[in-house]
Amino acid sequence: MRRIYLDYAATTPTHPLVLKAMLPWFTDGFGNPSSIHSFGQETKGAIEEAREKVAGLVGAESDEIVFTGSGTEADNFAIKGVAYAKEHEGKHIITTAIEHHAVIEPCKFLEKRGFKVTYLSVDRDGLVDLGEVKKAITDETILISVMHANNEIGTIEPIQEIARIAKDREICFHTDAVQTVGHLPVDVDELKVDLVSISAHKFCGPKGVGALYIRKGTRIVPFMHGGEQEHGRRASTQNVPGIVGFGKACQLAQQEMGQEKDRLETLRDKLINGILHRIDHVHLNGHPTQRLPNNVNMTLEFVEGESILLNLDLVGIAASTGSACSSSVLEASHVLLALGLPHESAHSSLRLSLGQETTEKDVDYVLEKLPQIVNKLRAMSPLYKPGGK
Ligand code: PLP
Repeated sequence: MRRIYLDYAATTPTHPLVLKAMLPWFTDGFGNPSSIHSFGQETKGAIEEAREKVAGLVGAESDEIVFTGSGTEADNFAIKGVAYAKEHEGKHIITTAIEHHAVIEPCKFLEKRGFKVTYLSVDRDGLVDLGEVKKAITDETILISVMHANNEIGTIEPIQEIARIAKDREICFHTDAVQTVGHLPVDVDELKVDLVSISAHKFCGPKGVGALYIRKGTRIVPFMHGGEQEHGRRASTQNVPGIVGFGKACQLAQQEMGQEKDRLETLRDKLINGILHRIDHVHLNGHPTQRLPNNVNMTLEFVEGESILLNLDLVGIAASTGSACSSSVLEASHVLLALGLPHESAHSSLRLSLGQETTEKDVDYVLEKLPQIVNKLRAMSPLYKPGGK
């Protein structure tokens, strides 16, 4: 059976050139980068080369990049690290209701320890209101964290404008750019951000490696304690093959990003318009234009997202829903609820995320199969009445 992967926002396949770059660092290049002998110095050199590539992709200095074990770790490091470094100046953090759990959960953790967190609401398209950011700031605010682009609905936030507001008030600004770095141009000086979370596996790098960009002069408490690795900012013997692969993925992204963005946008729009034309009672979630080039998120009323997913899987299409499975209870997505969608609609959503192997044929196949599946499922729904928009 034909298999089509449309879940690139969850993870991407490792690029063959990334794998090739990694392999020697599992075998001959096994030295501990903290060792002073030649084996260690060789791996240290490889790490520093990779650090330059990661820094180069986001316009940073290489000593502003700290390698982490994931995007989640980078988010936790940024939020808890700044909170604990600045708790004597204030205990208020501003974030949004649509952040990834890697940001929401450390914020909740801090709330239980005496910090106050404001979760900004978003509009119907998922955009943060700049006026609301300004209004939320108090003399106690020490950190603002707003994601660059949302992983479920693809909306791209006005990061530069929010960062300017933070800068005017001398507040540290973090952005979770896990869904944008490697896909869209991200320049830390243009965006005026202090901290940026990055994850390698979202753009054809290996899993289990990420980075936090930390602007020079930003006060942050280390998250991991132990050795002096990463200039004392992240104790742990580094994942050398992972870091080398991460560097290679950054280099490839820099070369291919522009062309790939245009190609994906064309496929994305064909998919969105095709679904809107072929299926009734359907609407797009997320901003119509200010959105990730590879993200399609639709609500298909009167059908359960999970049922669509299982039926798509049966015809070889891998997608995801807007809802997350937690403790074996299916909860509606906090992102879709924050857009103002009722629970039923939030449960009727489907995310298709495209990537480097997606072709126009794949899009045509989805446009052939999805309406058939939705029709079949709706035929079983007592609530469905054909014809509406
Ligand atoms: N932040 C965003 C926006 C994400 O989409 C993800 C992954 O889905 C993460 C953070 C977590 O990254 P990682 O899988 O590297 O822990």
